[in-house]
Amino acid sequence: METRHVTLVADLAAARTLGSQRVRPTGDDMRRATEGIVTHLPATGLGLDATFAQLVGVVAPGIVGATGPRYFGFVTGGVTPAAQLADFVVAAVDANVQVHLPLDSVATRVEAAALEMAASLSGLDTAVFAARTVTTGATASNVLGLACARDAATAKVLRLDRGLDSNSRHFCAADDGLFGACRVVVLHAHAHASIAKAASLVGIGRKNCFNLAESPASVDFDLVKLDSLMAKLAAEKTAVILVASCGEVNTGNFTADLPALRALCNKYGNAWLHVDAAFGAFAPNSGNLNSADSLTIDAHKWLNVPYDCGLFYTRSLELLQQVCSPSFDLSSTGPAYLSSSSSDGIPSPLTVGIENSRRFRALPLYASLICLGREGYEDIFARNIAFANRIAKWIHDSPHYDLLNHAGDNINGATYKPIANIVLFGSRTATDDVGNSQLVSKINDTGLMYVTGTKWAGRPCIRLAVSNWQTGKNKGNATDIHDPDFDIVINVLIQVL
Ligand SMILES: *Cc1c(COP(=O)(O)O)cnc(C)c1O
Repeated sequence: METRHVTLVADLAAARTLGSQRVRPTGDDMRRATEGIVTHLPATGLGLDATFAQLVGVVAPGIVGATGPRYFGFVTGGVTPAAQLADFVVAAVDANVQVHLPLDSVATRVEAAALEMAASLSGLDTAVFAARTVTTGATASNVLGLACARDAATAKVLRLDRGLDSNSRHFCAADDGLFGACRVVVLHAHAHASIAKAASLVGIGRKNCFNLAESPASVDFDLVKLDSLMAKLAAEKTAVILVASCGEVNTGNFTADLPALRALCNKYGNAWLHVDAAFGAFAPNSGNLNSADSLTIDAHKWLNVPYDCGLFYTRSLELLQQVCSPSFDLSSTGPAYLSSSSSDGIPSPLTVGIENSRRFRALPLYASLICLGREGYEDIFARNIAFANRIAKWIHDSPHYDLLNHAGDNINGATYKPIANIVLFGSRTATDDVGNSQLVSKINDTGLMYVTGTKWAGRPCIRLAVSNWQTGKNKGNATDIHDPDFDIVINVLIQVL
């Protein structure tokens, strides 16, 4: 590697992050990139200079990324300067963080510190959530959550059925498989689609996931229906996994049901409560997440660290290690060549997560958390929510658009009801799939902002998700709340009509 290349990459990173440029490649950029990609292995390598030119001159200009204050796609945040610097360090040290080796590397200690700090930022009781790991994202965390849930809930059902006490390890789905166990169902209210993927991967099956939302636009359960269904399932000796959405991806809405769901789990004794708070864990109104048995959080969303980085928390280290043990020998946590000699309480990551070899993805998170601190992050969350609400209020008052968060409450003249960090809206005239996707294209074709289309409660619509650390920062001083990014967004929304 040569220093001049590193300098140029740093310039590229700075230019993309500042967001003064377009948030989306032009048609020409896309053509040049598509035609310029090398698709056959060169017999003689191109060498570093030509490869570098390919990276920064051809590939990078042809990539839409979550950079800049007007990237509103998905809920994917961006990357803080500290996190970006740390990511370069990760590439430079190329550490495989799989075994806790306290005499050779502090990587696992850094990871443990990052997990502790992120939990504290989201208001988790860190003494309760003793088992933690850094994952590749919320999907991987949901896989771990459903795997732990599967083990715990099936063991509870079979234990009750066989009249055994709570200490007997008579059945363990991770060891025994689900054959001959009991049925397992997932009950949710508009859970993220990755829950269905997780149900597929851990042997529960997508057809055993049931949406019990109280309405087509709600993340709250029909609690009366849920209670009677859970009574029936308990009588039928079925294991139950409740999945609550804290921060639904279309609306940003939080379920208000966490206390009720916890009470139902306690009442029936065959159930587990998994909370998917991928981006919502950090919202001021996320509710008390401590009632969860397991919890999914993303770091590459609202924490603004680079891809890929997610977090998983659960209560029992023994259970998580039971699920993730990389060994056929049930009494050990792994093959001898991967064992750690340490007894300081930090588990080897390969015993608490999906991968064996894994990137030091905790370092950007660690760097960003210590750089910004609690105040710095709370400032990002507050600015983002304020920016989203300014846009949402404008849409609510516009004769041309409908604001669809909180369904009917925010449509056509009703009193404006504040939202979290996602603005869900649609045109009043182009309400079908074709019209909606044309509107998304028109908005994104301006290159000035980036949004994504979706469907909510049967209606095609648009999501404008605010989660970049820079959004709402560009605001003049305290008395001048003029925000050029806000003006640009409003101008685009007027111009595309
Ligand atoms: C984004 C998201 C996911 C999936 O997260 P990945 O990081 O893309 O795997 C799951 N659940 C919720 C609520 C999300 O917002």
